[in-house]
Amino acid sequence: MTSPQQLDTFVHQQKAFFNSGQTRSLDFRIQMLRRLQHAIEKEEDAIIAALASDFGKPPFETYATEVAILQSELKFMVRNLHKWVKLRRVKSSFLNFPSTDSIYAEPYGVSLVIGAWNYPFQLTLSPMLGAIAAGCCAILKPSELTPATSQLTARLIQEHFPPEYLTVVQGGPEVSQALLELPFDKIFFTGSVPVGKIVAQAAAKQLIPVTLELGGKSPCLIDETANLTVAAKRIVWGKFLNAGQTCVAPDYLLVHEKVAGPLLKALAQTITDFYGTSPTHSPDFARIINDRHFHRLQGLLDSTHVYSGGETDAAARYIAPTLLSGITWEHPIMQEEIFGPLLPVLTYSSLPEAIAQVNARPKPLALYFFSENSKAKEMVLTQTSSGGMCINDTVSHLTNPYLPFGGIGTSGQGNYHGKASFDAFSHQKSVLMKPALPDLPFKYPPYKEKMNWMKKAFKWL
Ligand code: NAD
Repeated sequence: MTSPQQLDTFVHQQKAFFNSGQTRSLDFRIQMLRRLQHAIEKEEDAIIAALASDFGKPPFETYATEVAILQSELKFMVRNLHKWVKLRRVKSSFLNFPSTDSIYAEPYGVSLVIGAWNYPFQLTLSPMLGAIAAGCCAILKPSELTPATSQLTARLIQEHFPPEYLTVVQGGPEVSQALLELPFDKIFFTGSVPVGKIVAQAAAKQLIPVTLELGGKSPCLIDETANLTVAAKRIVWGKFLNAGQTCVAPDYLLVHEKVAGPLLKALAQTITDFYGTSPTHSPDFARIINDRHFHRLQGLLDSTHVYSGGETDAAARYIAPTLLSGITWEHPIMQEEIFGPLLPVLTYSSLPEAIAQVNARPKPLALYFFSENSKAKEMVLTQTSSGGMCINDTVSHLTNPYLPFGGIGTSGQGNYHGKASFDAFSHQKSVLMKPALPDLPFKYPPYKEKMNWMKKAFKWL
């Protein structure tokens, strides 16, 4: 374990490197992003192997959700960074004539990135891309629950970047807490709501700007006009990807009572189509991260409500893709984020009632709505609040770098992905530039005689 003194040394070395100004040039940032692109490309097989070892993640899913998503973000940044770093001119104010006004994206400085285990490679490196693009240094603390991936992340960063610029510190909550005592210029945290509160409190003590990417229960509504066959495919994919251990997975379904029966049938059939009649033998279905989470999920699996699935194997930490029907809001599974392959199905009789039920709960990270009715889509879009949403899909909004990704309320604060990642690590510095002359006297005392002029000028503006 790295001692608090060593952590302090890392931060001070990074502060000195940041103050040398080297991280600020566009050339340097592009060069570092390209270096990372090549490093990830070279390590593709090792990344796939690490994730398989940590929780049996299928190679296709690792490639798509850890490697390809990072590479596409990297490409997007390399292509667009020259535009983002430019001094951005804005209109100047008549009262300051003659001035040139602009916004300078100033790198915050030395940043701390704390990652979660469920997409352990991507969730630690993706914020780091924002730090590099913005011209910051970064210390990364990946999750201790995925040791093979954390080890690989540490090796990859150590082999390709100097520690005074980017470094990885491994360990659990105690290491995070020691890091949170240090004078970072920016903190970026991905993880659970309770730990998010600890991080926010620690950041508040030093007034460090913080981005919180948290979780919660993301609802998925299906009305009576939805195309049920397509909805079933997109829901099963989004829910059982990574064995349900995805922050934006549909946590529960809220279905119009008229179509609940046919939808459940279509969902069960889709599960069989995707994973076979015995998903435990499917190479495309991951395992639960550890025994604690396995037993937590098993506790939520109420056999009296199982519609399909329900099989478990503690030794393999396997839980079958499971549909639970006849669930009500009072059921234990509706009291916490599920974060596993259990999908409870609730019903509603009118859309306003469903919206009211969603709005009575904490604001989710994502909200999904399946419908063919334009008015209903408009209603759900404008009358609910969530970090992001998809209409007639699940999860996919986070793959578009033009869409900022983040939560609202208890599901998080701040955004990243694409330019939003650059912004997350930049301070928007307002700059007013004036020549020495002319030096118009209107604002200087003595004010006598100037009041009338000032009033006229304001009316005219
Ligand atoms: P977690 O909060 O348990 O851990 C996240 C990180 O915080 C880890 O690196 C861990 O070592 C550290 N940590 C744990 N306890 C700590 C403490 N007391 N003090 C300081 N640091 C501490 O979360 P997790 O189990 O790794 O991830 C699952 C959660 O993360 C779910 O709630 C999920 O919805 C959420 N999540 C959100 C996003 C997002 O982008 N919004 C992405 C992935 C996961």
